[in-house]
Amino acid sequence: MTLLPGDEEFNDALSRYETERERRTSRVRSRPLDLNAHEELRPVLADPLATHGSREPRVIQTGVLVVGTGFSAMLLAMELIDRGVDDFLLVDTATDFGGTWYWNRYPGAQCDVQSYIYLPRLEQTGYVPTEAYAHQPEIHAYVQRLARDHDLYRRALFETRVTSLTWEEAQPGWVTRTNRGDVIRSRYAYVATGPLSQPKLPEIEGIDTFGGRMLHTSRWDYELTGGGPGGDLDGLAGKKVGIIGTGATSVQVVPHLARSAGHLYVFQRTPSTIAPRDNHPTDESWAAGLEPGWQQRMIENFTDVTSGIERDCQILDGWTISSLAILRSAQLDEVMRLDHDYASGVRARVDEVVSDPATAESLKGWYPYFCKRPCFHDEYLDAFNRPNVTLVDTRGQGVSGADESGLTALGEHYDLDVLVLATGFEVGAPSEFERRVGISILGRGGLSLSEHWSKGMKSLFGLYTTEFPGLAFAPAIQAQASLPPNIPHALAEAAKHVAGVIAKAERDGAGTFEVSGDAQAGWVEEIVSRSPARQRGSRGSLEYQEKCVPSYLNNEGRLAEKRWEDANFGAPPKEYFARLHDDAETQHKTFQFGREG
Ligand code: NAP
Repeated sequence: MTLLPGDEEFNDALSRYETERERRTSRVRSRPLDLNAHEELRPVLADPLATHGSREPRVIQTGVLVVGTGFSAMLLAMELIDRGVDDFLLVDTATDFGGTWYWNRYPGAQCDVQSYIYLPRLEQTGYVPTEAYAHQPEIHAYVQRLARDHDLYRRALFETRVTSLTWEEAQPGWVTRTNRGDVIRSRYAYVATGPLSQPKLPEIEGIDTFGGRMLHTSRWDYELTGGGPGGDLDGLAGKKVGIIGTGATSVQVVPHLARSAGHLYVFQRTPSTIAPRDNHPTDESWAAGLEPGWQQRMIENFTDVTSGIERDCQILDGWTISSLAILRSAQLDEVMRLDHDYASGVRARVDEVVSDPATAESLKGWYPYFCKRPCFHDEYLDAFNRPNVTLVDTRGQGVSGADESGLTALGEHYDLDVLVLATGFEVGAPSEFERRVGISILGRGGLSLSEHWSKGMKSLFGLYTTEFPGLAFAPAIQAQASLPPNIPHALAEAAKHVAGVIAKAERDGAGTFEVSGDAQAGWVEEIVSRSPARQRGSRGSLEYQEKCVPSYLNNEGRLAEKRWEDANFGAPPKEYFARLHDDAETQHKTFQFGREG
């Protein structure tokens, strides 16, 4: 990078970025705990809402088997209904619809992208969110309403874990087995298990010996903490509570824990950047004046602004303001400078809010702004001004050990009654997909998906793969583009495409489909050619990613170990969506329909 002479602050920041990254990468590897070796910790991941009711195994024949009942699964179901395909079944371990918004009911859970563009199909339902950033109970209620309106409850099998999906040539179609002994036969299957659904427990020496109560944020147990999603956690009164992790989840939980706990210790490895949230009730006159087509226009505008290709912005918030400030240039040198100017303002805000200078310093993120997921909150930083809150800055090292009475970090022991794990979710290579989601997926000739993807993911659009006919995946890898903040936008576009392919196969009486090998090879080649490894001097380049502190966004800093087939589509989401649209326009010419596929 060319440094302009005389710009000391900028140069200092760059060397600080380097120091912080080194500190974090040199000694720490972020691995999820292997639960097979720690069976005693499995209850931490149990669903507090499970009824544990028993039922007889079922034998079911359906058109489309959908694994999951989150946004991806529901969007596919609604798109299928729109195309006249009514014969489908959704299966989930949860007791209700919602996916992310079923599991993540921790206090303070709230959407981070404006509700007006985050909640799908607002125009069709006529629902107006009550606030700009809706909280979990409202989002979950909206999800339930979508499910009722589309008559999805009678097509769902809850508290049921899919254990295997096996292609049967003779049928032809998929045989799905579950932990309840069900056998479900279908022509098509959609695996919509979610990219961030398998909670990650931290690999900390002795964590299984902790004698107090332990909970993961995605399995919040209000019987233990008291209160509800709005807070007032009276079960924590007088208790010493520790929380590991300071990512987007922790940022939302900490203010509630701070208000309720006797004492709260926040164990930080890497600080998040915290820009203002600025939530507000919905302006009814604004909502009343919205013109038909408003939601899709607003969704597309937001996605384009946050990918740096549109400057006429309809929603001014932390995502778009930072994008408008930083993504004005495609050149890495220039981006780094703009990034520094913006990130300096975010860091300065920490000094304005947090009164203790040492704590304020610890809470500043020293890395390029988009290296980690930016966070937005109006109460998180302020929580550290409370006398009952201690920030345990582990200076990049993390918690070093646990024992019966608490945690140790940087040689100091902290006694705890309750330990909250805000340690996120497992993210890994596509070859580990089966292990991660706990489903064996066998295609033609008994080929396992892990084997099929062992030398890198193979797909068209990140949604379909050869040798697994009639099967599609909700988008995660080789799909969309890196970091689209408004995830439901990508899920909705993918659902339209998959529903279109299934509807065509049904219309034509084909009964199945398979993506062409050539189309797939072309897509994989494109993924690699647009990957950070091939981009030079831009924000999408390896050069940029190497400047980042480790996170799930950069393979935990182990970029040399990353296969670039396992990357996302390295162009703005608009281009990805256009490719899906173009394929639909050609009546899915890239697919073979019927048995000969
Ligand atoms: P996350 O971003 O992966 O953060 C996990 C946190 O745990 C990090 O602070 C990490 O530290 C820490 N950690 C993990 N393993 C650790 C270990 N062994 N020792 C010490 N610390 C450890 O998880 P998350 O906060 O649950 O968020 C996950 C994703 O969910 C977000 O990126 C976002 O996409 C989504 N989310 C969205 C919303 C919303 O839209 N409202 C809210 C919450 C989450 P390091 O940073 O040092 O690795």
